[in-house]
Amino acid sequence: MATGIGPAVRPDVDVVVVGAGFAGLYMLHRLRGLGFSTVVLEGADGVGGTWYWNRYPGARCDIMSIDYSYSFDPELEREWQWSEKYATQPEILAYANYVADKYDLRKDIRFGTRVQQASWDAAARRWRVSTAAGDEITCRFYVMATGCLSLPKSIDIEGADRFGGETYYTHHWPHEGVDFTGKRVAVIGSGSSGIQAIPIIAAQAAQLTVFQRTPNFSRPARNGPTPQQKLDAFKADRDAYRQAARLSQAGVAAPITQVSALQVSESARRAVYEAAWDSGELLPTTFADLVTSAEANETFCEFLRGKIRSIVKDPVTAEALCPQGYYYGTKRPCIDSGYFETFNLPHVRLVDLRKTPISTITETGIRTTTESMEFDAIVFATGFDAMTGAIVAVDIRGRDGLSLKQKWADGPKTYLGLTTVGFPNCFLVTGPGSPSVLSNMMVSIEQHVDWVSSTIDHMRRTGLETIEPTSTAEAGWVQHVNDCADVTLFPRADSWYMGANVPGKPRVFLPYIGGVDRYRKACDEVAQQGYLGFRFEGAAGAVCNDGVIRRLQPDVTIVLEVIESLGLPPVESMPPQAARALFDALATQRPPGPAVGEIVDGTLPGAAAELKYRLYRPATAGPHPVVVYYHGGGWVLGSHDSDDPLCRDLCVRSDSIIVSVDYRHAPEDRFPAAVDDAFAALRWVSSHAEALGGQPGPVAVAGWSAGANLATVVCQLARDAGGPAIAGQLLITPVTDADMARPSYQQNGERYLLTSAMMRWFFDHYVDVANRADPRVAPLRAGNLSNLPPATIVTCEFDPLRDEGAAYAAALADAGVDVQHIFARGHIHSSLTMVDLVISGAPYREKMAEALRRYLPRQQQPLLRHKRA
Ligand code: FAD
Ligand code: NAP
Repeated sequence: MATGIGPAVRPDVDVVVVGAGFAGLYMLHRLRGLGFSTVVLEGADGVGGTWYWNRYPGARCDIMSIDYSYSFDPELEREWQWSEKYATQPEILAYANYVADKYDLRKDIRFGTRVQQASWDAAARRWRVSTAAGDEITCRFYVMATGCLSLPKSIDIEGADRFGGETYYTHHWPHEGVDFTGKRVAVIGSGSSGIQAIPIIAAQAAQLTVFQRTPNFSRPARNGPTPQQKLDAFKADRDAYRQAARLSQAGVAAPITQVSALQVSESARRAVYEAAWDSGELLPTTFADLVTSAEANETFCEFLRGKIRSIVKDPVTAEALCPQGYYYGTKRPCIDSGYFETFNLPHVRLVDLRKTPISTITETGIRTTTESMEFDAIVFATGFDAMTGAIVAVDIRGRDGLSLKQKWADGPKTYLGLTTVGFPNCFLVTGPGSPSVLSNMMVSIEQHVDWVSSTIDHMRRTGLETIEPTSTAEAGWVQHVNDCADVTLFPRADSWYMGANVPGKPRVFLPYIGGVDRYRKACDEVAQQGYLGFRFEGAAGAVCNDGVIRRLQPDVTIVLEVIESLGLPPVESMPPQAARALFDALATQRPPGPAVGEIVDGTLPGAAAELKYRLYRPATAGPHPVVVYYHGGGWVLGSHDSDDPLCRDLCVRSDSIIVSVDYRHAPEDRFPAAVDDAFAALRWVSSHAEALGGQPGPVAVAGWSAGANLATVVCQLARDAGGPAIAGQLLITPVTDADMARPSYQQNGERYLLTSAMMRWFFDHYVDVANRADPRVAPLRAGNLSNLPPATIVTCEFDPLRDEGAAYAAALADAGVDVQHIFARGHIHSSLTMVDLVISGAPYREKMAEALRRYLPRQQQPLLRHKRA
């Protein structure tokens, strides 16, 4: 029966696929096309998955049907025309059936067959799959296409099985439909399913009572014909249309914006939000930072609450329907057809469970903490055990009997959301750790099916029998998935994305939020790099190119992409004046950083002439400790105000005065001019600390990059000169040596903004080759590193200067100096300075501020708290 591949004793089929939804159907079609014998096992009596089960009134898609459809066959696209923008469940189910018929898929699908167990037989290199009916089928590859939203969550309401009236579940709706005419109906749940069903049920029922625990954000779907513009674009070039979706953030082509909601005027912001409200789309383009900034997101939340208040006439009901306590998008938002308007009908009532929770369901109705209500029917629209539920509902046993459910007890661990360590030849379609539910799932399903089938095909062509991810690759991917989530507001919500809707489920962000486009790129790169992070075995032995596919912080990646898209000339190709102009121009584009209490510009006596400084004072009551800050820029670029956002951030976080001092720059003034000025500035600020409104006593020094080099140097000079007293040094990705042969230069010298070529250019402008071992250039080379102030040294993983920073930390520690070495995983040389742009840098800046606070304890408690901009 099996063809093409297989060990000595052939399994029943090459591949078993569980599930005949859109994923299973396409998987079968693709594998069959490649000549693999495949059987699909499906618990339902028909195809369609989601659209087979969820037959509740009002069920329809909320991604436009023209987009929420297969793209693998242009002929299918020509044959099937959607009747409206958002097709109904019956029409989508009809489409699934049409696909099954067109490609003659049914003959390889066993309906009414629920898979209960699957175990890996290592000796035979096959899976043994058992069904609820007790049948067993063996296969080489086992594919879970069981759906992200297919296992309903158990009803966790006391007394639910006691109710004597009619009980319905949106996910398991009677095929013959339900007539609610004349009935008193309760709906529990106001997620997407409830929001779609409620207006239709209200149109029939004599009374409708909606039991709402958490209100949802919803906008009008404005259903109707597919927009002509979309149809025209599709007809003009279907390939380009589909490709744009595949390379988009969420699987639907949409304009990308870099604009912050906080950067525009109130009226401009409102115009964008009104357009979103009018768009009738689930994913309209609004502002770049709604996903990451609480303040930005709140502007949209409040706009939407305003809309609810304007629609719903009873103010108490309106307020109860207004979502509070979580940010827009962090629980799946909805689009609706007359949802909020429904609550203006006289026979519709909202029960706010946050005020009066359900005590129990009774034989005749529902009792809350304040009243008992009688119903003829209760509809449960209470959602799913999403993403992992249907997978671990099957007792899947991998190598050495390892149970997947146990492996995932603390949350799912996958490589690319496709595979998991310990389970060879097992693939998950749209598994946890893939974009899945955060995307147009058709696009994600097709991408996964294509990747899996081409991988199986690759194995056949190369004589490989088993595939399994490595622990390194899986841990790296899990980290990356978490990194992506952590820069967003999503983990803060009690959502099903976090598993928070199912009591006892571990709280882990389940999907991949890095985007469909970036995700596809990662999968493609894995394959191109010889299946990076996978271990194969075959007759010829094992093959493994181990590694981690994504190690940069996600927001750093975005910054790098944006900068690359600008096509800027390399700094080292420019004269210094042009490079300075470019850096000044770029600085105008960055977020300003937080508001501080006061900014004072002034001058101080440098070693040769007056130097500018900028003082940042916290909004709290002074006097504050004082930090002398030296800006970065390779001794060639920058000025007293060029690290403005970082200085503001340090000022606010450390509750200290930051005095950012200028110094003379090369090539006009070469070494040791910058050092002399840096030391002169230190002396002046130290002796004027009180005059500047600061605390008397020692100051701290801080600096970034070449500025951190100067900070290290002034610490050595001050020690040797017997003052000024320095309480601590904060060295952010410092230059500590002129030796460019360290591994971090080799690894990171070309791709991460600060390049080896740029460093060479800086050194050449700054200092003669003969002087590069001078400790005032290369403080690491100082003969004596003892008796220096306590130091906090920050190094970044993808920085050419990483190793010399680490070397300096080690050398100081060896010399008995109190050193804290902070290693910023996934960061580049400049990313920690990118305040409000590289959000993943914020915890490191907090640690830096902590260090400053430790070095410079406040002599007096602040009376006022600072405000963020
Ligand atoms: P499913 O369609 O869930 O199919 C999985 C199949 O596996 C089911 O038929 C199930 O019976 C079967 N199965 C599971 N476990 C077993 C087992 N142990 N043995 C045998 N069979 C098993 N996504 C969008 O992108 N846009 C939308 O507009 C949209 N609307 C949605 C509306 C609703 C009401 C719901 C619930 C989801 C919606 N989704 C939407 C998500 C939707 O689930 C996916 O778009 C898509 O249909 C998933 O297809 P699938 O084949 O991966 O999974
Ligand atoms: P859901 O979004 O999880 O909503 C379930 C609702 O039931 C929530 O309001 C939840 O409140 C409530 N609930 C759960 N348990 C409860 C309890 N014990 N007591 C009271 N209330 C309880 O589920 P869903 O509506 O079925 O939608 C799931 C997902 O399917 C959607 O997010 C979407 O991805 C997809 N979907 C899409 C569409 C579409 O428009 N195309 C339609 C339906 C579904 P809490 O929020 O407080 O937990």
